[in-house]
Amino acid sequence: MKRILITGGAGFIGSHLSERLLNDGNDVICLDNFFTGSKNNIRHLIGNNRFELVRHDIILEYLAEVDQIYNLACPASPIHYQYNPIKTMKTSVMGIINMLGLAKRCKARILQASTSEVYGDPHIHPQVESYWGNVNPIGIRSCYDEGKRAAETLMMDYHRQNNVDIRIARIFNTYGPRMAINDGRVVSNFIIQALKNEPITVYGEGSQTRAFCYVSDLVEALIRFMNNEENFIGPVNLGNPHEFTILEFAKLIIKLTNSNSEIIFKELPKDDPIQREPDISLAKEKLNWTPSISVEEGLMKTIEYFEKVLN
Ligand code: NAD
Ligand code: UDP
Repeated sequence: MKRILITGGAGFIGSHLSERLLNDGNDVICLDNFFTGSKNNIRHLIGNNRFELVRHDIILEYLAEVDQIYNLACPASPIHYQYNPIKTMKTSVMGIINMLGLAKRCKARILQASTSEVYGDPHIHPQVESYWGNVNPIGIRSCYDEGKRAAETLMMDYHRQNNVDIRIARIFNTYGPRMAINDGRVVSNFIIQALKNEPITVYGEGSQTRAFCYVSDLVEALIRFMNNEENFIGPVNLGNPHEFTILEFAKLIIKLTNSNSEIIFKELPKDDPIQREPDISLAKEKLNWTPSISVEEGLMKTIEYFEKVLN
């Protein structure tokens, strides 16, 4: 049994991770400021005497005695991270400084939820960890992309300078139950639109690509990475390499929901990456991990969830 701190624990991924780590017999402190997370995501865990919920903002210092820290706190959807871009940058940079300070003091291992966005609009496809990326430093996505890049830098510097035990996970598009209904990300938007028989909003011509990983597969990868004892610190790509164009993806959602929705085209947001697909060879080799849930299977579970939420 370990004492585990999860920042952003009331969010989409954080709530699944909290649940899994509790089921595995650990003590979990779930810390969240509830900007995009919700008590509803973790309500079923409240009452478990190994679960502790703390309302706190990671841009401020937090003190606790823990063995492991998963740093997930940060809005992840473009709508939410662009709502207050200065705060997004503070969350990534000041937040990781506070968490690294905590890890240093407690000698805890810390895992940073980094992102495929560190590759920006990539010139290399599929993306490998050795690629340094193509990120606009002054655009509307920069608060998120550059914040996450700076957090990776701080992780490496605390590791080199202070021997902090780190793990850097580059997470690619992940989806599943408990995505917020107002999240604005493509999976939740398309499913909600399809279930309501409303038009499916494809941005641009829909030729941009993404690859989607079901949340339980990602949680498994995060836990394997955190507990890997072979000094493998990453960065490592975690995602499902099955690549779709966004137009193909819209058609798949219409099919799986038996929807009457039509597809409409809207303006492509600025700096929207043209193609994205993880090369997960490193995760396979070092963590013996590959996703096990097919996109169709994961989408059906997610559709069931949104059907319940909407009714
Ligand atoms: P989410 O928005 O559901 O979860 C983020 C959580 O962090 C929320 O509960 C939010 O309230 C909390 N939070 C935000 N700012 C905070 C602050 N300053 N202090 C304390 N709590 C704060 O998003 P998610 O999809 O669950 O993403 C979790 C993490 O994984 C994020 O760091 C995100 O950048 C990263 N990630 C996610 C994806 C994905 O596809 N879901 C892809 C790449 C990286
Ligand atoms: N997208 C879309 N319609 C929507 C929401 C998103 O066409 O209603 C597109 C978006 O432009 C991007 C892709 O879907 O190309 C994934 O967007 P999301 O916000 O889910 O995540 P991103 O990978 O861009 O961070």
